[in-house]
Amino acid sequence: MSQITVVGGGLAGLVSSILLCRKGLPVTLIEKKRYPFHRVCGEYISNEVLPFLIAHDLYPENINPASISSFMLTSVNGSKADLPLDLGGFGISRYALDHFLYEQALAAGVEFYHETVTDITLENNGFKVITERQVVEGQVVIGAYGKRSRLDKKFDRDFIKKRSPYIGVKYHIRYDAHPRNAVALHNFKGGYCGISRVEDEVYNLCYLSERTSLKVHGQIDALEKEVLAENPFLEDIFNNAEFLWDKPEVINEISFETKQPVEKNVLMCGDAAGMITPLCGNGMAIAIHTAKLVAEIVTKHITKSDFSRDDMEREYALRWNALFKNRLRTGRQIQHMFGAPWLSNTAVGICRYARPVANYLMSKTHGTPFH
Ligand SMILES: Cc1cc2nc3c(=O)[nH]c(=O)nc-3n(C[C@H](O)[C@H](O)[C@H](O)COP(=O)(O)OP(=O)(O)OC[C@H]3O[C@@H](n4cnc5c(N)ncnc54)[C@H](O)[C@@H]3O)c2cc1C
Repeated sequence: MSQITVVGGGLAGLVSSILLCRKGLPVTLIEKKRYPFHRVCGEYISNEVLPFLIAHDLYPENINPASISSFMLTSVNGSKADLPLDLGGFGISRYALDHFLYEQALAAGVEFYHETVTDITLENNGFKVITERQVVEGQVVIGAYGKRSRLDKKFDRDFIKKRSPYIGVKYHIRYDAHPRNAVALHNFKGGYCGISRVEDEVYNLCYLSERTSLKVHGQIDALEKEVLAENPFLEDIFNNAEFLWDKPEVINEISFETKQPVEKNVLMCGDAAGMITPLCGNGMAIAIHTAKLVAEIVTKHITKSDFSRDDMEREYALRWNALFKNRLRTGRQIQHMFGAPWLSNTAVGICRYARPVANYLMSKTHGTPFH
């Protein structure tokens, strides 16, 4: 019996598995896809994770991540504000980053199964993690399966009962007109589109749009021509950039509803515990930070006989809430400023003329650097 089973191999699952395995604890990670693969993500990572990644030899220096130090915001009608980022960040494709971490996990001794988990049960203090092919038994399960999964239905989680209003679309492009060290957020009616550089002089173009908007326009390219291109910055990108894929990566049912960090004795990690709105550019940092937290607390439970399952669950929920609950709430509040033309103009006005307010809001969405 493997002591720890991790469900899902995104950033949260990979990083927690590496840390646990490096402590000498046996870990099985079950991920339904095979690496490397693309995912919908803006691929801008806040520098709050940099000291941690460097300290644990998990910063993928050889891949040459892009350094990002300034922020550009444009409104639906194209007015623009630029400001320096307080912490800054780096850009790297998930294709490269997740694959790099997968290799680190293999080197640390993590056992991988590429299967879909269909159910998780706890009986007599032991978990059964059920896939289409087998049952994996374990003492602790970490749920790192991302923003939404059929498992959430099994757990009867509240957020899964509501339809989510957003879709996400991602491309990799070449586009020289964008400043190399800036991350931009271009607003359009019903959504916003980020652009920033990743490795190899490639740019990530990724947007979040209301699902109803796609329904009205029928197809992704019609939505882009008729809605996104109303913003002159986006119009220029769609007319002049070189699109590197035949078709974009698309996901739907993106929800920012609150979730619980522990559900049916499973410790939820990354987006499975709660997803911050993408405009904050912080979901990946939070996934990595929750991975560190969960690894510390699970290690304590397994190595200390007087730290029970109840103690472990209580401490994880407490520390998760202290670190992330307010950031997720601020993200939801800022999200309301985007999508409507007059509100996006107000947001640009704040960045231009009320810099301290903009800096304050920005600082509320990211955490402090950690080791
Ligand atoms: C449009 C958009 C743009 C974004 N832009 C940014 C950004 O620029 N910067 C940033 O920091 N964050 C951004 N984010 C958020 C970021 O992508 C997530 O917060 C981050 O990927 C969370 O990592 P995770 O490990 O929790 O989940 P994921 O990376 O989603 O990994 C979950 C994994 O679990 C697997 N899985 C799911 N169900 C099962 C199952 N039943 N069995 C086995 N495996 C399963 C999946 O295949 C997947 O590999 C964005 C999100 C969206 C939607």
